[in-house]
Amino acid sequence: MAKDKKNKPKVYSAGKNCLKCGSGNKLANHKDRLSCGKCGYSESKSVK
Ligand SMILES: [Zn+2]
Repeated sequence: MAKDKKNKPKVYSAGKNCLKCGSGNKLANHKDRLSCGKCGYSESKSVK
């Protein structure tokens, strides 16, 4: 069992950082907007 451990890429790659909390704090991805659970900041998403 040497090569069982795999380095997976980050799942949150699509997430944006919160502008108020700074990097390291990702915004929660909602259907039509992103929001920060820490400070309450929210940002509308441009729907394609
Ligand atoms: Zn925040």
